Amino acid sequence: MADMAYVNGSFMPLGEAMIPIEDRGFQFADGVYEVIVAYEGQPFLLDEHLARLQRSADGIVLGLNCSSLNLEGIIQEGIQRSGYDDVLVYVQITRGVTSRQHAVTTELTPSVVLTFKRKPIYEPQLRTEGVSLETTADIRWSHCSIKSIALLANIMIKNAAKHRGFFDAIILTDENEVLETSCANVFVIREGVLQTPPASDRILHGITRGFLLDVARKEGIANEECAVDLEMLLKSQEVFITSSSIDIFPVRSVDGITIGDGKPGPITRRLLSSFPKLK
Ligand code: PLP
Repeated sequence: MADMAYVNGSFMPLGEAMIPIEDRGFQFADGVYEVIVAYEGQPFLLDEHLARLQRSADGIVLGLNCSSLNLEGIIQEGIQRSGYDDVLVYVQITRGVTSRQHAVTTELTPSVVLTFKRKPIYEPQLRTEGVSLETTADIRWSHCSIKSIALLANIMIKNAAKHRGFFDAIILTDENEVLETSCANVFVIREGVLQTPPASDRILHGITRGFLLDVARKEGIANEECAVDLEMLLKSQEVFITSSSIDIFPVRSVDGITIGDGKPGPITRRLLSSFPKLK
């Protein structure tokens, strides 16, 4: 078993993978990405991830039809080559390699890079006890629905939160509306209703978010995509965050204020059981 990479047509051990310095991903963060989890070798919600990758590529005017790349086949082969059961698959497509200048004047061949690593095994108490979050202002750009590799603002938010002893931060609008965290979507449960901020340009339209809304619809859990302000969130019975790599982490406190009784609530636990396999 080994971490593997795929770079523009070839597989190799991750440590041997290289990309030219003048790749626009390296110079300008001019690219898009996906993170996909495979459970027991099977990529979870793959079609949804690939559809979002295409939307992101279109969002930065990459002029690429992602279906021409045979990403399904590459992902399947990479998972097999890694030898891991549960795999974290990272897909990055950048505009390509050219002499460094802002404007793109020639037609470039996008760089296609994938990595295949063992899915992280999180400390069990993150799920049994939940995580604590702080709140922060939105210092990001205005196209957060594009899954851009330009993540500097997100990284600054996450690092500042960690430095202050929080797991992450909930990003708020100037009007104190909840958006998402640096790397996950946010859900609250108020009076039995599952609520999450609407899919706008100010959040990433999380694949896990969409999956859980579908699960809620199928299982008859009342749900709503609606504005959630900080005051509402702090009075919620349950809060949790979602992403492909974490699935669901319950939230026990925000800015030091305990959510509900400070323990993962019944709807959070019920939704947690809807994932194929949790480790
Ligand atoms: N929001 C942001 C800013 C993210 O970076 C991510 C995942 O990386 C998410 C939400 C969750 O998205 P998904 O469920 O598709 O992993």
